[in-house]
Amino acid sequence: KIPSTALSASPLATQVAATFDQLGLSFDDRLGSDLTVFSPIDGSQLAALRMDTPGDVDAMVANARTAFAAWKLVPAPHRGELVRRYGAQVREHKEALSLLLSIENGKILTEARGEVQEVIDICEYAVGLSRQLFGLTIASERPEHRLTEYWHPMGVLGLISAFNFPAAVWAWGTTVALVCGDSAIWKPSEKTPLTALAFAGLLAKAADDYDLAPNHLVQVAIGDARCGTAIADHPDVAIVSATGSVRMGQDVAVRVAGRFGRSVLELGGNNAAIIAPSADLDLALRGAVFAATGTCGQRCTSLRRLIVHHSIRDAFVQRLTATFATLRIGSPLDDATHVGPLIDQIAFDGMQRALEQARREGGTVHGGERLDLTGAADGYYVRPAIVEMPQQSAIVCEETFAPILYVMGYGTLDEAIALQNGVSQGLSSSIFTNDVREAERFQSAQGSDCGIVNVNIGTSGAEIGGAFGGEKVTGGGRVSGSDSWKNYMRRATATVNYSASLPLAQGVKFDL
Ligand code: NAD
Repeated sequence: KIPSTALSASPLATQVAATFDQLGLSFDDRLGSDLTVFSPIDGSQLAALRMDTPGDVDAMVANARTAFAAWKLVPAPHRGELVRRYGAQVREHKEALSLLLSIENGKILTEARGEVQEVIDICEYAVGLSRQLFGLTIASERPEHRLTEYWHPMGVLGLISAFNFPAAVWAWGTTVALVCGDSAIWKPSEKTPLTALAFAGLLAKAADDYDLAPNHLVQVAIGDARCGTAIADHPDVAIVSATGSVRMGQDVAVRVAGRFGRSVLELGGNNAAIIAPSADLDLALRGAVFAATGTCGQRCTSLRRLIVHHSIRDAFVQRLTATFATLRIGSPLDDATHVGPLIDQIAFDGMQRALEQARREGGTVHGGERLDLTGAADGYYVRPAIVEMPQQSAIVCEETFAPILYVMGYGTLDEAIALQNGVSQGLSSSIFTNDVREAERFQSAQGSDCGIVNVNIGTSGAEIGGAFGGEKVTGGGRVSGSDSWKNYMRRATATVNYSASLPLAQGVKFDL
């Protein structure tokens, strides 16, 4: 039970307490005064927590090393059994977890439910994977020799995550790492620690109930960048998976590379969609509106740039502005709401600064203003903005983590692709077209330079089966999907000679 003194009397704090009760969890041992957690819904205080220090991280890493030594010996399908049980727990508590996620992060309930579903899906994916961790047998040039590739557990995973997907990104990395035989420490965003304590708490409970799981298999470090740095610097953290801003990634990448650790970086995006003259414009409109305004423009895959053919640009912008005006902005807990609040005032100030710069760079801004909602004086609700730009100016090349959609025109597909690729980020991209040549070209080596390339859907809303991540300053990492499980294992190539002679490779002679 959470002592009532630790929480403000806000109704949302009460709901959080009730949710933890319902999950059979408590965070009493985390209470403190270093970190105040707020709900973006109304700015009310949800809890005050104690932050872990770099010394606490050291102790966690030592425990994680011990856990790894035992866990790596458990056969992978039995490691999958833990993840299967965890997935069943998340499924059972889907509604409670979605509510908590929505209260702490501010995304609308349907998107929160989608995120929890993603956790369930990745558990199922990881369970299947636990029987599919295979290497290759390679033809040897030497007679009676066998060349085999093995994949072995890697070590301790340190996973640093962002506020905007406070559960799914952790689950992508952790469930896959667990079946791969690693132990894990999670450093969630300091803006969403309660969601982390709930998701990791259920996993810890499942591990406690599973006799093959060692203690401290999964731990949570609550704190800010200092905790993240302690993980990035620690020589015993074999893999650092970091999701967040490019600035954070630049720091983490250098630290981990400096000690020859392995990093998986999932950083900022600046995603574009091209609307070609042949496009189904109704489809393009729906795709663009959801991608630009979902999670209040705070997805790494949010649509930020729209590149529309000159012949349809004005008409399309008119329809887009009219549709933006009809979006229902309000409490994410209300099923009728399309767009919830920004995470906090810092996000709001960043949005306003970007809009001012866009105006200075020749942009025409529609929307973007703060909305004053009854009962939510300290919530940052905004009307999503559309900004018509004369060209891809400096501000358009930046990722502003808010619902701002820059619109530019193009003449030829080459021009559109050059604009799409003309930013430093390379996460997600899409084209709306009914011309098969354009669609194929966009997906080809001459087309988009992003990790995600879509046709006739928006830039956001990826499925878990495909490798997720992007190129250039987005970091190049793939947290899960496809063969990204290899990030969580080490490869060993074994050559076995079952002959009675010792031929050397490449015909080298060495007679004794
Ligand atoms: P952020 O970079 O401020 O924080 C992310 C995490 O990194 C937090 O846990 C934070 O405490 C930690 N951190 C910050 N500085 C650090 C440092 N120097 N060393 C170690 N840890 C540090 O990002 P945010 O505001 O929480 O999230 C928004 C950003 O995340 C956006 O840029 C978005 O595009 C990106 N993002 C990317 C993906 C992806 O898959 N590519 C997914 C989600 C979010």
